[in-house]
Amino acid sequence: MDERELLQRELARERAARNQAEQLLEQKSLELYHRNCDLEAQMAVRREIEASLRQYGAALASSNAELEQFAYIASHDLQAPLRGITGFSQLLMRRLHAQLGDALDAECREYLQFIDDGANKLRNVIHDLLDFSRAGRGELEPQALVLSELLEQALLELQPVLAARAAEVSHGELPMVQGGAALLRQLLRNLVDNAIKYVARGTIPRIRVEARQQDGLVIVSVQDNGIGIAVEHRVRIFEMFQRLHSEEEYPGTGIGLAICKKIVERHGGRIWVESPAEGGSIFCFALSALPQPLPAV
Ligand code: ADP
Repeated sequence: MDERELLQRELARERAARNQAEQLLEQKSLELYHRNCDLEAQMAVRREIEASLRQYGAALASSNAELEQFAYIASHDLQAPLRGITGFSQLLMRRLHAQLGDALDAECREYLQFIDDGANKLRNVIHDLLDFSRAGRGELEPQALVLSELLEQALLELQPVLAARAAEVSHGELPMVQGGAALLRQLLRNLVDNAIKYVARGTIPRIRVEARQQDGLVIVSVQDNGIGIAVEHRVRIFEMFQRLHSEEEYPGTGIGLAICKKIVERHGGRIWVESPAEGGSIFCFALSALPQPLPAV
């Protein structure tokens, strides 16, 4: 084979190799084009989902604000007529006593008692509804707070209830947290109040408040030796007016835990309940931890 022939063969081989490379390139660009189309379609779907999520969030926020506004106005406006009912029923009671003395019949006394009980119940609901709407309104004005001080203040407010049940409350080391003082005090008060209330009669309520730090969060727990909560009710008890017991067994409005949830969520945290093996309940809430000062060297 002469040199010319060799050169021609070499050229033919190169041409074939180039053709093959060009085909491969074309195939790859087609694949890339299809992949690009898929990605664009996925991104369009994602954009749609994000837009509907934003819409849903805005609708939820506005319906929450409406609910708070409604709760505030309704509860505020109901206070005056309620004061009228209690005031006039007391006047009526006094007048009947003055006119009839012991002749006032038992049925009449019972009716007046019903009015009084009903008015008291209504007062509690109005009070809790106001607290619920306040928990979501106004500026939070977060500050660094000593959790143990908040607990002491909450216990002071609960003194009559604590004394009536001879309840024992103890706590471990409690760190500092960041938040609104009045709201966090109310959160602790509601949880301890429930921990005292939902204990079988004849049992001394024993409550333990602990806190631990985990992944930049402070997790606070309030454990009781009470009647406990069945697994299937652990979520719904944080919703408004969800009660697991009758008014006769354990009086209440069914708003306390909804207030707790609102307070914790306003602080960007979450609240849940656990049922320990030894019985009772552990209510836990997680808040952002405050950077702790470094120990002095
Ligand atoms: P209230 O106590 O006024 O009924 P809450 O919203 O505070 O309303 O609580 C909702 C329900 O959750 C209560 O009715 C009760 O059935 C249950 N619950 C709350 N705290 C406890 C607790 N510590 N132990 C057992 N059950 C509880």
